[in-house]
Amino acid sequence: MENYFIYINIDGFAKYYFDLARKLNIPLYNLECLINEGCYFENLWTGIPSITFPMQSSILSGAYSNVTGNVSKYFDKEKNKIVYCKHLNYGETFGEVLRNKNNSLISIQQFVLNSRGASYEDRDFLYLQPGGDYKKRFNILLELLRNNRVDLGEKSIFYDKIPKFIFLYVDDLDEVGHNAIFNYEGLMAFSERKRISKVISRLQKIDIKIGEVIKALIDKKIYKRSYILITSDHGMVPFKGRSSIPRLIKDLKKCGFKNIIYTDDLVSKEYENNWDVVMTSTGIEVQVWFNSTEVDLNKIKHKLEKKDYIEKALTRDELIDKGVFEGFSDILVSPIPPYHFNGNISKRFLLRGGHDSLNEGTQRIFGVLKGPLIKENFICKDSVKNIDLIPTLCEILKIPVMRSSTGTIIRKVIKSKEID
Ligand SMILES: [Zn+2]
Repeated sequence: MENYFIYINIDGFAKYYFDLARKLNIPLYNLECLINEGCYFENLWTGIPSITFPMQSSILSGAYSNVTGNVSKYFDKEKNKIVYCKHLNYGETFGEVLRNKNNSLISIQQFVLNSRGASYEDRDFLYLQPGGDYKKRFNILLELLRNNRVDLGEKSIFYDKIPKFIFLYVDDLDEVGHNAIFNYEGLMAFSERKRISKVISRLQKIDIKIGEVIKALIDKKIYKRSYILITSDHGMVPFKGRSSIPRLIKDLKKCGFKNIIYTDDLVSKEYENNWDVVMTSTGIEVQVWFNSTEVDLNKIKHKLEKKDYIEKALTRDELIDKGVFEGFSDILVSPIPPYHFNGNISKRFLLRGGHDSLNEGTQRIFGVLKGPLIKENFICKDSVKNIDLIPTLCEILKIPVMRSSTGTIIRKVIKSKEID
């Protein structure tokens, strides 16, 4: 009997959103149904930096940036400039593994697989980028499951047998969580409580669509043979007020550094040869580099962590230990929410959400996996990384794991043998 695999990535799905919905008795029946029938990862973490492209690629390559090379951006000391990683991924993707093994797939906006296992032209390894909200993207999946059909506008594709591997990416929780003035849930929230409640309200709508997917799989008589994985690339924390960059500069000056430069591009000519510190930010946390190799990074870390606006500072060695590309930062500084190190130092933010942070709100994510060989109603309390999930699936489905994957197989969620 053939198995199916459906991977739904809900961007920006922090675990605390789910916990809060449970606490407030806001029903998420279908996620609860999957948890009952499968394994709930109660202690699931993303990597650093917790930014969409690096983490989405990490999940599908089973490795962080020491393999993928993608840390969003970093400072190149030789060239005196910030380098942007864009869609860089040196790792092999799960899509490429499936393609090599001739396992058909379809990717509904899971962009990591675009030209990396899936393409617009190939019906057996199809990539689609419909845009729009969850409804539009889920409806493509539902049409596939109900009628074996994918509508491409001018033409449609009909499958005798639907692809066995299905990838769906939706970005609603991320969009609503960022709390832009106008977002999917209407006007921005003016309080953190309201921001979270808008996100949960969006989650409820997505949950209903997940229910429709479950029903379509049951009607097709493949539900019991299907693996369903739902997880995320990061959570979200609130930030507001003015940037703490000027404060950090002041505190670093007290440590004896003189020429401290903030840049999103090049180090200006004036400081090209005599900068002491360069920093850049992705919105909340700030990446810091020192010109001198003599700087005692641990000493700076401990000094910074004593400040009332800083939650955590990680040195280059600590970052490397966590699987981060060595050029990412000499020190990564993460503030206590709602403080932030936004590069726009003149702006006073009313209330926004961001996810490039070391705070638990962004690092701890939702995750559930169900399938014939997954233990039922099982809560995995062990600390698990999101790069472990696909390698575990590879093990179960007897598919080679992605080349250079560093993910660990989570054996305790696997049943000893299949029970029909
Ligand atoms: Zn994201």
